[in-house]
Amino acid sequence: MSVLAVRAGGGASHEVIAVSEGGLRTIRADSVVLATGSRERGLGALNVSGTRPSGVFSAGSAQNFMNLQGCLPGKNVVILGSGDIGLIMARRLVSQGARVLGVYELMPYPSGLRRNIVQCLDDYGIPLHLGCTVTRLEGEGRLSAVFVSDVDPETNEPIAGTERRVACDTLLLSVGLLPENEVAKTAGIALDPVTGGALVDNDLETDVAGLFACGNALHVHDLVDHASAEGEIAGRAAALFGMRPHGGDGAASVLAGENVRYVVPQRISPNTDADDTVTLSFRVTGTIHKPRFHVEGIDGAGEVHPIKTAKTMVAVPAEMVQVKLKGVDVAPYSAVRVRAEGVGGAEGARPSPGSVPRKANGSDGGGAE
Ligand SMILES: Cc1cc2nc3c(=O)[nH]c(=O)nc-3n(C[C@H](O)[C@H](O)[C@H](O)COP(=O)(O)OP(=O)(O)OC[C@H]3O[C@@H](n4cnc5c(N)ncnc54)[C@H](O)[C@@H]3O)c2cc1C
Repeated sequence: MSVLAVRAGGGASHEVIAVSEGGLRTIRADSVVLATGSRERGLGALNVSGTRPSGVFSAGSAQNFMNLQGCLPGKNVVILGSGDIGLIMARRLVSQGARVLGVYELMPYPSGLRRNIVQCLDDYGIPLHLGCTVTRLEGEGRLSAVFVSDVDPETNEPIAGTERRVACDTLLLSVGLLPENEVAKTAGIALDPVTGGALVDNDLETDVAGLFACGNALHVHDLVDHASAEGEIAGRAAALFGMRPHGGDGAASVLAGENVRYVVPQRISPNTDADDTVTLSFRVTGTIHKPRFHVEGIDGAGEVHPIKTAKTMVAVPAEMVQVKLKGVDVAPYSAVRVRAEGVGGAEGARPSPGSVPRKANGSDGGGAE
């Protein structure tokens, strides 16, 4: 069954419009959890010139060929994008007999987890090229080569004179996931321009009462564990909706401070109990070695008060960080801010070409102590 739209009730129950083989259905519900996941960014979102030969696949369509139809999408493959999906596909293609010529990444750092860089690329001798992108396709009928250029780290624009030809028959696009919020838009839910997901409070309730959002629809996760944990928060809050105090003035804003790209949730409900756990999930803007994450409360007079400091070995944009607070920690403040600082500050700048930042203890991040 596919949900086409949600009509927000405006105080009364909501209407979920869904379609299946049996036809159109309307389901009434006091609370609805939107867990619609994400979708792949496609070739149309990229500025790639040249012909439009066959042999260009999204990671999802390549998986469809391999997993469901039992065939290889190509033999000599270039992968654009170093997110976890691109890394996992690189290993998968090699294990099925294809040659992966390289993974090319626009950013100066890899977008996937460190363990996937090691287990999916290093272990198979697949080169990772940072700070570059595919600018042109070549091929009549089938792809015969892609052209790759270095990019300016400030503008992400290709640098003239750096273009080189990489002969291949397949280009696999793994250039990011976008939160799927077409249904959320039909309900008039406000979206965060940074995450692409709904603006929510710590119950993961959107700005429309009774409508909740979680998982990749809320912000793209690197680990399913975090998406599942959010599902539990949203599911519990949706089940309790109408059975406990709700709404009211006085929500505290949650702000992304220095070196932090975004924080979810974006506000803390005034109905938060003193012993409720408040989980702040955020990403840094660049690589930070030995980061300290400062969670600060800002009172009505604008005074800043430390709430909690957390640390880890290294923070990279690819890995979401979480800090857990109690309701009592945030209750006195009209705003809560998260900022990050580290030894030598944050490295928004490009590391040496081809280098991959590694975590000192070799483990994956996620939580901060
Ligand atoms: C190739 C790949 C490999 C991954 N590997 C790992 C891994 O090894 N470890 C790990 O921790 N994580 C991994 N992940 C990430 C993990 O899959 C996601 O974090 C997780 O699936 C997100 O869960 P979700 O419920 O938010 O969204 P999804 O799992 O995407 O679920 C959303 C669901 O909503 C449905 N839906 C969307 N719109 C509608 C609608 N209008 N009506 C009805 N239904 C709708 C979709 O069909 C889908 O079934 C991987 C992801 C990919 C793509």
